[in-house]
Amino acid sequence: MCGIVGYVGAKQAAPILLDGLERLEYRGYDSSGIAVINNGIIDIEKAKGRLKVLRDKTENGSTVSGTMGIGHTRWATHGEPSDVNAHPHLSQSGRFAVVHNGIIENYMALRERLTSKGFEFISETDTEVIAHLFEYYYKGDIMDAIIKVMDRVEGSYALGVLSSDYPDQFVAVRKASPLIVGLGEGENFIASDVTAILKHTRNVYYLEDNEIVVLKKDEVKVYNADKEEVKKEVFTVDWDVSAAEKGGYEHFMIKEIEEQPKALRATISPRIKDGRIVLDDVSLTREDIKNINKIFIVACGSAYHVGVVAKYVIEKLCRIPVEAQIASEFRYCDPIVTSRDLVIVISQSGETADTLEALKVAKSRGARVLSIVNVVGSAIANASDDVIYTWAGPEIAVATTKAYSTQLSVVYLLALYMAEKLGTLTSGQYNKYLTELQALPELVERVLEDKEQFAYLASKFYNCHSIFFIGRNLDYAVSLEGSLKLKEISYIHSEAYAAGELKHGTISLIEKGTLVIALATGGELFDKTVSNIKEVTARHAVVIGVTTTEHTMENVVDHIIQIPVTSDIFLPSLSVIPLQLFSYYVAAQKGYDIDKPRNLAKSVTVE
Ligand code: GLU
Repeated sequence: MCGIVGYVGAKQAAPILLDGLERLEYRGYDSSGIAVINNGIIDIEKAKGRLKVLRDKTENGSTVSGTMGIGHTRWATHGEPSDVNAHPHLSQSGRFAVVHNGIIENYMALRERLTSKGFEFISETDTEVIAHLFEYYYKGDIMDAIIKVMDRVEGSYALGVLSSDYPDQFVAVRKASPLIVGLGEGENFIASDVTAILKHTRNVYYLEDNEIVVLKKDEVKVYNADKEEVKKEVFTVDWDVSAAEKGGYEHFMIKEIEEQPKALRATISPRIKDGRIVLDDVSLTREDIKNINKIFIVACGSAYHVGVVAKYVIEKLCRIPVEAQIASEFRYCDPIVTSRDLVIVISQSGETADTLEALKVAKSRGARVLSIVNVVGSAIANASDDVIYTWAGPEIAVATTKAYSTQLSVVYLLALYMAEKLGTLTSGQYNKYLTELQALPELVERVLEDKEQFAYLASKFYNCHSIFFIGRNLDYAVSLEGSLKLKEISYIHSEAYAAGELKHGTISLIEKGTLVIALATGGELFDKTVSNIKEVTARHAVVIGVTTTEHTMENVVDHIIQIPVTSDIFLPSLSVIPLQLFSYYVAAQKGYDIDKPRNLAKSVTVE
């Protein structure tokens, strides 16, 4: 959600800023802008709509001179998407230009106060108060001003600030919004995430909350809010530049769907050594695990759906009660969490605002927090007691696929790890599961081989107005994800229902020709789900059945998708693939902007 890029160096800044913003487009935005300083004057260009509008306006940045600047893609929270509301925002005299990601919660009070002091506001944004506050507090030292501003504003922010008084440096700061620093040779950068700057450097600083960074061409200094210099560790990012590029694929989403076997191998293989699961990053002892009273899994969107699968898997393997909760609900429901509970938070970006806040609630009640995240050094990773990274590489498409799959694989690793410590599995069961887990990437490859059938089904059904997904237990958990995927990118209304629950109300919506995608993969519940399929076919629904090669659904459904056989707990990793592909091809048929669906942002850094 929102992208920030900043550059100082010897090259013309504007084309670099535009290129960086393009790489952050996937995060979601509705307008964009840049500010570049040239001969002590700040030049601002901004435009509503796609980055292309700004590119056209500035002839790809060539019309904007200067070698230092900041850029922004805005995902509007306060005030509609418009040229005026787009960032950067200027202070009254034009001395400061600010880009901001996040929300200033006390902006109304600040706005009133600044207005009474004679400041005039031209936008509806919360951000504009920051620009004016800089001017208000500036007494000749930008560090002093930034510390005062940080003291006054409440909420979340990543800020890039340019000042005409400082033609060779700019400053940035973050609190509860992502921002990293890129360290180059004779040039330095800030960005919302590393994909924006990977082309220029792999060396980065991950900023902590309230750290202020001052960037010059040949020098980067980080300070705390007491103006003391902080020594930062340089991280070298091992993500491949090509991983953040389409590389011949039509969309990032299909590329990422196809990358799933590789991402699964990268996440699973290094953690299995000599026939055992080794989680170096986890400090939970056998005693800690034995003492767990309850596990909460807290996440948003698809990561929450991973949590729903995890509930079934962990309860089955470890016999510990598990509750999966949506982060935005958990944080406000006064949850009964104690120091005897383990809270597992899941977030691809590690910056999801609701999840981060839920984590803080859990910690404040004494719970131990283990996080599953994809981005090293992210806020959630930093705030957790233990972190297990998914090694999925950058995920650019807004609709997640490989992050979901790798998060799920971490759930399997963790569940088996805990089960071994608890002794809830025989060594025979443990070894069998381990062998199957290692074989999962190959089975996913097999499902991916048969893409044509999903493209065919999509071409048949892309005109549907409403689609139902049904399944029981693990199949239900995957249905939730299948339905969300379809809604996200194809804009078709869809519902996921526990198959046995349909008849308690929702079956009234089934009519002749309604498409139902029924998952009946698990051995134990196959017959039960088939009965539910019969209930909808009796009402003339059209059914696509997803099952394993072990079962036949002939004469039961209209179209059959078969996935390879493995233990029930691993089937979600396979059954989700046809659903991802179906959604992808439906959206492709409709000609939609698959990687950047309307209204959605990749990393949701506001509540
Ligand atoms: N709250 C700010 C605005 O609405 C920043 C939004 C963003 O993070 O893009 O302009």
